[in-house]
Amino acid sequence: MTSSFDPSLDDDHPHEECGLFGIYGHIDAAAHTALGLHALQHRGQEAVGIVSYDGEQFHSHRALGLVGDNFSSEEVISQLPGNVAIGHVRYSTSGDTVIRNVQPLFAEFKFGGLAVAHNGNLTNAYAVRRALIERGSIFQSTSDTETIIHLIARSEYGRVVDRLTDAISQLEGAFSLVAMSGKKLIGVRDPYGVRPLVIGRLGDAYIMTSETCALDILGAKFVRDVDPGEIVIIDENGLHSLKPFSKKPRRFCIFEYIYFARPDSNIEGRHVYAVRKNIGRELARESSVPADVIVPVPDSGVPSAIGYAQQSDIPFELGIIRNHYVGRTFIEPTAQIRHLGVRLKHNANQGSIKGKRVVLVDDSIVRGTTSTKIVEMVRAAGATEVHMRISSPPTTHSCFYGIDTPEREQLMAAQHDVQQMADIIGVDSLAFISIDGLYRAVGEARRDTEMPQYCDACFTGDYPIPLVDREGGGLPRQLSLLAERD
Ligand code: AMP
Repeated sequence: MTSSFDPSLDDDHPHEECGLFGIYGHIDAAAHTALGLHALQHRGQEAVGIVSYDGEQFHSHRALGLVGDNFSSEEVISQLPGNVAIGHVRYSTSGDTVIRNVQPLFAEFKFGGLAVAHNGNLTNAYAVRRALIERGSIFQSTSDTETIIHLIARSEYGRVVDRLTDAISQLEGAFSLVAMSGKKLIGVRDPYGVRPLVIGRLGDAYIMTSETCALDILGAKFVRDVDPGEIVIIDENGLHSLKPFSKKPRRFCIFEYIYFARPDSNIEGRHVYAVRKNIGRELARESSVPADVIVPVPDSGVPSAIGYAQQSDIPFELGIIRNHYVGRTFIEPTAQIRHLGVRLKHNANQGSIKGKRVVLVDDSIVRGTTSTKIVEMVRAAGATEVHMRISSPPTTHSCFYGIDTPEREQLMAAQHDVQQMADIIGVDSLAFISIDGLYRAVGEARRDTEMPQYCDACFTGDYPIPLVDREGGGLPRQLSLLAERD
């Protein structure tokens, strides 16, 4: 294996938001993977990696930073030859985190090499890891993906797909995976289908990736979503599908529609942009307010602000301009820098808000940092009234399934009611979409309280997948296994 792996790239943060891409049967597999990952850059901006296979050996290049900064040169791509490749972008955010592993992870097993890239979060990784360590496994990091690799290595089965199935059946959590052996590209979605994964075709080549926008960039055709609990295997005989796990209720992450996925993607039969506009319409129906302009907090608030403006018949204006050369706010690790990040990122567009009653539309309030700064800015620019409308219900619970949210103590909505939040943020009024309004926007009549159609744990505290690692001891989200071994 040739590799430019830098061992200083360490990460012990187990909660990752990530983007996956895999391609089988294309002469320019690595270049296409780099393009696909570029389209998925919103899912992870911290690190990027690609592993390819040329028929004889695996090649890997992993680095910190953006896809374009690391994979746009001919020199790098030419070091990743072969017709099969997988890649990964990752986004993890914690001040005290050191980077240890950039994915895809690669391991040599007795059956040959296997590279694995993972999006999501395992909820029993700690328990499984502890058992593995007791049986002699030596871990390099606390990454969930490494747990999968160890389980594959220890499996009693012979074939790679059986080993992978055996490994996954010991895991709980929300995840999508793409893996690559010398002969196969494999895609897996957890039985609840929390994180997305789609199949596409480009000529004779097959693609598996997190979102359809990564197919569009290549001119590839969308074939279908990988089903929850499905293992899709692509090899010289084409595509095969297995459903070896016991069936679970489908619980796709509703926050992918609200914020995380790109608006031009189609996931689980729904167009993300259309859902966001619907949310804006529902929000206007539920909590209209007399105003002169509807202003999105760019970029994530734009589609729902359009829906809100259309429904309320109030003009849509770009009253806040975003600087596109600054990353997402969450990437800044300390509170101090996060505040600065908000100022670096947004500026009020005085001409369109001065003397106006403004409705600001954003997708979510997490810590409240963004909203507080934006409202201050909009008032300073001369708005006479500032109302805030949020296209998600209040975020009251942390996500343990692969969206990086802070602990509950830091979630503004977990600590305060809506009126208190309005007072802190400094708005004349504040309203969130109701949970049923959100479900209507994704095409349901209402939230089925017995069997919710989506995972909405961040808004309801209804966690569909057991949080094994947190039960009993109330483990911290930042699992410090390495420290424990010292
Ligand atoms: P905050 O300033 O902490 O209230 O964060 C709210 C802003 O962060 C919103 O404008 C969202 O667009 C964005 N946001 C929400 N959830 C996430 C997340 N999990 N990762 C990164 N950004 C997020």
